[in-house]
Amino acid sequence: MKYSGACHCGSVTFAFEADVDEIVRCDCSLCSKRNALMVTVHREHFNISRGQDALRVYRWNSGVARHYFCGTCGIYVYHQRRSNPALLSVNACSIDGLDRETLPTRQVDGKSRSVVETTAAADAAAAAE
Ligand SMILES: [Zn+2]
Repeated sequence: MKYSGACHCGSVTFAFEADVDEIVRCDCSLCSKRNALMVTVHREHFNISRGQDALRVYRWNSGVARHYFCGTCGIYVYHQRRSNPALLSVNACSIDGLDRETLPTRQVDGKSRSVVETTAAADAAAAAE
């Protein structure tokens, strides 16, 4: 099925084609803080329709995954995965008309795959030493 979506301010719009049959949740420190609900999309089926230059990238942990968000409104749009760079996770809440309530949610264990602590936790650990 074809989907479209946008960040909050509309600077960034996107379109993709995928069989969306589940919502993915991840418990890593980043996804927890942004309360991310995601759908899986193959990279070659995803296009930024507008606002490529408005996107900012955030990298942490191993630095491999690329987390893209709108530089104007700050909304997380999608990220390229570390485990499989051919796959993207797209912010389910920014997809037009997606009925998230009717889709099953799958919890993935991102926490145990994180190789570094968050900065705040690392600072606290350093202060405690
Ligand atoms: Zn925006």
